[in-house]
Amino acid sequence: MRLSLDAAHALALQALLASGVSAAQAAAIAGNVTAAERDGCPSHGLFRLPGYIRSVQNLKVTRDAVPQVTDLAPAVVQVDGNNGFAPLALEMGHSRLVGKARHCGIAAMAVTRIFHFGVLWVEVEQLAQEGLVAFAFTQSSSAVAPAGATKPLFGTNPMAFAWPRVGRPPLVFDQASSVTARGELLLKLRDGSSIPQGWAVDSSGAATTDAAAALAGAQLPFGGYKGSSIALMVELLAGALIGEAFGFEAAAADNNDGGPTLGGELIIAIDPAHFSPHGNSEAQLAHAELLFARILDLEGARLPSDRRYAARQRSAVDGIVIPGALQAELSAMASSGARAE
Ligand code: NDP
Repeated sequence: MRLSLDAAHALALQALLASGVSAAQAAAIAGNVTAAERDGCPSHGLFRLPGYIRSVQNLKVTRDAVPQVTDLAPAVVQVDGNNGFAPLALEMGHSRLVGKARHCGIAAMAVTRIFHFGVLWVEVEQLAQEGLVAFAFTQSSSAVAPAGATKPLFGTNPMAFAWPRVGRPPLVFDQASSVTARGELLLKLRDGSSIPQGWAVDSSGAATTDAAAALAGAQLPFGGYKGSSIALMVELLAGALIGEAFGFEAAAADNNDGGPTLGGELIIAIDPAHFSPHGNSEAQLAHAELLFARILDLEGARLPSDRRYAARQRSAVDGIVIPGALQAELSAMASSGARAE
């Protein structure tokens, strides 16, 4: 089913509002999932809405949570999501983080008590559009076996990085620390496809290409022990450092409704102007362009985020395509108005 971006956004918004999600939370989530569809990232697009909505109907997530922004230090801001979804909390802390990074040169935002179910590139790309270098880290529910093990402990724990560019969209990468995001497994399960070797093991620890067996077993870190260490770092930064749960603690506390689990996110923003004796970032950004050009000179190489930006251009004209069954499910939600008591 082909939808314009406006229609996709309206469908998401209506489904959320009909489930009793507050206007502010719903608008932030609808913007986030529509951006994922627009950029060719369907594993975190409209497909996630039934999970968001189930979490509200089950009273796991507070439908009308109002995030609270608090200064913890000159270069540290905290946003307490108050048991709501991540997108609104991130929006509400954004300008305070930018102000602190511009003032101090480097600043961090600790986002706590949120349910994060989306991509991370949204938050770092916005910061880089304002001229800042940015990192983001979030833990998710226990799903990935540490290197050498076969039982899940870490979340799929993504990290994202963005670098500002003059006159072009930022360079961004955003990657799970597992071979692939869990959403890819869920899409394979939905579509009845097998998964490639090397993504996961089943519950007995044997390699599997069956999506259901993989979901019941453990996903594997990318690059063996190297991805495993990144997953470990993300648990520490988005968990212990900011006073949030580890992936295994979030999993133990969750009601397993298929929606997101409670957790946190750490964002770090750097103003490159503070690293220059001239107080502006022109030289650093120009130097970076040399590296990007050299990469692109090499046959077969591309920059991370170029696929997304190409998808963004296409979807602005052609819209997006979602399965008819998903469109029907969301339309039913949008018109049902089914709410938890
Ligand atoms: P991918 O493996 O698809 O891509 C990871 C990154 O690598 C992207 O930035 C991608 O850029 C880049 N890339 C891919 N191929 C190349 C290439 N040939 N050359 C250069 N760069 C390349 O992503 P994952 O499956 O690891 O993660 C998908 C999403 O899932 C992420 O956005 C992540 O934030 C999200 N996620 C969210 C979680 C949560 O709890 N909220 C948990 C886990 C994951 P491009 O996009 O341009 O292809």
